Amino acid sequence: MTTTIEAATALFTDLTGRAPDGVWSAPGRVNLIGEHTDYNDGFVLPFAIPHRTYAAVGIRDDGLGRVRVASTFADAPVEVSLDQLDELFPTPSGTAPGVPEWAAYPLGVAWALRQAGADGRGLDIAITSDVPVGAGLSSSAAIESATASALNDLWAAGLDRTALARVGRRAENEAVGAPTGIMDQMASMLGEPDAAIFLDCRSLDANLVQVGIAEAGLAILVMDTRVKHAHSTGGYGERRAACERGAAIMGVPSLRDVSVDDLTLAEELMDDVTFRRVRHVVTENQRVLDTVKVLREEGPRSIGDLLVASHASMRDDFEISVPELDTAVEAALAAGAIGARMTGGGFGGAAIALIEQDAVQQVTDAVNAAFAASGFTAPVIFTVTPSAGARRDA
Ligand code: ADP
Ligand code: MG
Repeated sequence: MTTTIEAATALFTDLTGRAPDGVWSAPGRVNLIGEHTDYNDGFVLPFAIPHRTYAAVGIRDDGLGRVRVASTFADAPVEVSLDQLDELFPTPSGTAPGVPEWAAYPLGVAWALRQAGADGRGLDIAITSDVPVGAGLSSSAAIESATASALNDLWAAGLDRTALARVGRRAENEAVGAPTGIMDQMASMLGEPDAAIFLDCRSLDANLVQVGIAEAGLAILVMDTRVKHAHSTGGYGERRAACERGAAIMGVPSLRDVSVDDLTLAEELMDDVTFRRVRHVVTENQRVLDTVKVLREEGPRSIGDLLVASHASMRDDFEISVPELDTAVEAALAAGAIGARMTGGGFGGAAIALIEQDAVQQVTDAVNAAFAASGFTAPVIFTVTPSAGARRDA
């Protein structure tokens, strides 16, 4: 990993000429299974990855109540007053004037924390990250969770991890304008080594599930297609709207309340597109429950079919895959993967494959060859292990 505590500290010192009060970090995540179920009050099973975003943060002594953010991702720092945050946000359908999109993540977290009752002096925030951006690995939750953890400590706000996840989600929804669910922030806040987080997105009840991937001689391969997605635009919002429509037709608060047995009725009541969106969410919820059961009772070798069924459902019913994701999944399976699926919100980003540890090279070569044969940009392929959630590093 190239991004270190030292790099964030150095960026902070370049910006301010002083040392930070501390460095906090939070990981990106991979979702093992459970896609587009989070905002339907359903179930997800993500885990935190080794790639992390670091925030070196220090209180400002100038008494001006201003907050400044810098990131290696951006050309120039952005500075606003804390009071101004309440005028800038919320911005449900786009970025606030004068605030570049990237800065709306950390500034939105400062705003959302204040909305949650936290308050304190002005701050400088310097951010570095090695979470691939826009790859469906949730660099957005990583920056939110690192910032939220830092400000929670420095402002002595005392919020727990779940409350900080809500703060991050609020920043993403209302300051950035991306209508995403709570999964990413919960995974980034709650991750533990070798465990996935079985999250009930209705109650926010989270249980760690030991995945035992390494013990079983297996590995998880991430295949980043390098097709960038954008949650604040396009199909993501349209899929949410279809889910809400489907729930309204079924007369329930959310698709969580529709079971696989109800699908026959659903098909009679709604148009074909809405029905297929509903069928994805309803069957995906069941697949998450089945995956947790299989992991607990049989271990990771037995979840392959569930991963493959999840991908087919996203490709055919929810229609959020792209040719690059399908190619990655098909090539990995053809090269011997136990299971594979796209992960994250779709329309680009990454796919994962569950493979034998000694097949990493073979599957990587096969996926690279399939991309070359299709004329796609070469993917970025690496393994991940379930890793620790947000923490203070220094
Ligand atoms: P994903 O979460 O899949 O990586 P998103 O579109 O949800 O993709 O979030 C990516 C956006 O988050 C970037 O375009 C940028 O605005 C912001 N972001 C992520 N990491 C950083 C960072 N290290 N510094 C500044 N902004 C970041
Ligand atoms: Mg994101």
